[in-house]
Amino acid sequence: MAKPIVAIVGRPNVGKSTLFNKLVGQRLSIVEDTPGVTRDRIYATCEWQDRQFLLVDTGGIEPDSDAGLLGHIRRQAELAIETAQCIIFVTDIRGGVTASDEDIARLLMRSGKPVVLAVNKCDSLGEPPMELYDFYALGIGEPHPVSSVHGHGTGDLLEEVCSHLVFEEQDAQDPDRIPVAVIGRPNVGKSSLVNHILGEKRMIVADEAGTTRDAIDAEVDNQYGSFTFIDTAGLRKKGRVEDGVERYAVIRSLAAVERARVCVILIDATVGFTEQDSKVAGFAHEQGKACIIAVNKWDAVEKDDKTMDAMRKKLMDDFSFMSYAPIIFISARTGQRVDRLFELIKYVDGQNALRITTGMLNDLLARATARVQPPSDKGKRLKIFYMTQASTRPPTFVAFVNSRQLFHFSYQRYLENQIRETFGLEGTPIRLLIRERG
Ligand code: GDP
Ligand code: GDP
Repeated sequence: MAKPIVAIVGRPNVGKSTLFNKLVGQRLSIVEDTPGVTRDRIYATCEWQDRQFLLVDTGGIEPDSDAGLLGHIRRQAELAIETAQCIIFVTDIRGGVTASDEDIARLLMRSGKPVVLAVNKCDSLGEPPMELYDFYALGIGEPHPVSSVHGHGTGDLLEEVCSHLVFEEQDAQDPDRIPVAVIGRPNVGKSSLVNHILGEKRMIVADEAGTTRDAIDAEVDNQYGSFTFIDTAGLRKKGRVEDGVERYAVIRSLAAVERARVCVILIDATVGFTEQDSKVAGFAHEQGKACIIAVNKWDAVEKDDKTMDAMRKKLMDDFSFMSYAPIIFISARTGQRVDRLFELIKYVDGQNALRITTGMLNDLLARATARVQPPSDKGKRLKIFYMTQASTRPPTFVAFVNSRQLFHFSYQRYLENQIRETFGLEGTPIRLLIRERG
């Protein structure tokens, strides 16, 4: 199920990141396990009364040196408009309404997207301060007093935000049609690949400056199956937000990844791995999507018979957190191995939905625990009573144990490897949930 996206915007120091952390709360710790992605996180899943959405703090993007402060804030607001279903505009009761607040407000209002106005640093309980009413002048509607430090008012704020979001009950998608997101840094060849797949006639429509529009998805039916290539804002070349700021690439891919079942992570063969690549990939991994690493521009690489193996080895190292992902070398320009890419998409999508019976899982568990004894501490040994698969997409297993503490990470890894060795599950992350029982 695709989670809606909510973006936080506002000028520096009004308390955006404090609010982000308060709203996300303890949920942050659940998605913390991807190396390279965790540091200065700018998005996280937020939950309010059993409804989940993705919260993005655009303030976490470092300023673009030549844009100037106002230019920078504007770009963040544009990015929010482009990617989010609802925007939280944060202001500061202490600073009052400033000229840049008015500037952002105009930009947001023009977009037609729902905007919720938060007036931060209203720390004292009781009657809202008189100054709150000044914020009506922004023309956005009712100002919501909040204290990001204490949490006051955040419930009302979330209620208002959720009233603007559409939460899909169930995927309305055709189960046989695979939604695919092509993601990656700017210039890795995303639009070239999608255009190659769609053929010359069906170039992706450029976004007209000053307008926002719904994503354009492209359906492809061929001998490998039925696919929908999800348009990412990043695929539309002449977008309002320039592609130069790499950090934007991650934000722009969030919505596409959310809606996809399979993510094709493009790497530029002429550049090699960069930190940014793992950030983009990390989100797909965290969201439990089937993943393929596709090294593009293979035509442009000078190579001998060892180049591919060497590069594959290096990438397996760089992407060690998703060692399950198949690596394929393609060219969007010449079409090399694009057929094979389709086969892989079909294959990993199936793996992402695989179901393993409880009987087979527990046979595996018996063998695995016999081969390598579970860890023990101070005379107490880990007991895994049984395992069962709770859900698919991604395959999620529940292990019932006597002690969560004894179930060390290394033993979880060992079990995960055993599961993969036996059942494959290639191209898909898997999850292991631990339940303690007396
Ligand atoms: P950002 O630049 O908009 O992300 O702002 P930060 O979240 O970094 O906050 C800027 C400063 O305002 C920090 O010193 C925060 O501690 C402070 N601050 C944030 N929220 C509140 C609040 O609700 N009340 C008070 N008193 N201070 C706050
Ligand atoms: P995007 O920003 O990820 O959508 O990247 P583009 O599709 O716009 O491609 C960026 C540049 O790389 C363009 O100049 C493309 O012509 C070039 N490019 C894309 N794919 C290939 C490829 O497979 N081989 C070569 N040699 N160049 C490519």
